Amino acid sequence: MKKITIAIDGYSSCGKSTVAKQAARMLGYSYVDSGAMYRAVALYFMRKDFKDRDNEEALLTLLKEIHIDFRVNAVNGASEVYLNGVNAEHEIRNLEVSNNVSRVSAIPLVRKKLVAMQQEMGKSKGVVMDGRDIGTVVFPDAELKLFMTADPEVRALRRYSELIKKGTLVTLDEVRNNIQERDYQDTHRTESPLTQAADARVLDNTALSPEEQLDLLIRWAEELIDD
Ligand code: C5P
Repeated sequence: MKKITIAIDGYSSCGKSTVAKQAARMLGYSYVDSGAMYRAVALYFMRKDFKDRDNEEALLTLLKEIHIDFRVNAVNGASEVYLNGVNAEHEIRNLEVSNNVSRVSAIPLVRKKLVAMQQEMGKSKGVVMDGRDIGTVVFPDAELKLFMTADPEVRALRRYSELIKKGTLVTLDEVRNNIQERDYQDTHRTESPLTQAADARVLDNTALSPEEQLDLLIRWAEELIDD
């Protein structure tokens, strides 16, 4: 059967990864959370207390020390990110990383390394990848591009309850501020800012249930696969 590439971009915390994971499972495709890769780099920078971002040589040396891969959790089947061989899935989601990641992801050399890895991961198609520049930079030829959005307050509430459920100590204000800040930085950076690809379909899920948006995505994908 024909395999396609599905690129999902959009604002922070609008449910991209949830729908992307479910769609990948239904289609038998692989799922790549590109945000987890930027988060893993940000975590490494934080551990090393790296601030010398304009020093190209120091950056290149540091980036060479970073190895990122995804492994499937044998218990729940989830794809989890590993940083230098150690599971970092939990740590990359904390608020400290969330507050740092957009500054790290704006660094051109960081993007260069991760975009090359992402293109390699998706080169055989049959992939669903979500992020900020997947349909514009990583896979500009993707057959299906989605630009996801939702009301900012709805996004903040969703992310807040997700973090609380996982036992993370945060306030709604902290989550709201982080989302606003990341949206601003991700859309205003010089290198590959978050923008809607001209050929992307917009999916505003403010009033959609997870099932409704998954149905829509699968319908669009199947139309292209059966083409
Ligand atoms: O998707 P997630 O919210 O986990 O992404 C974390 C951050 O990583 C984003 O706020 C953005 O700064 C960066 N990112 C990016 N390009 C991508 C994916 C994520 O710049 N393709």
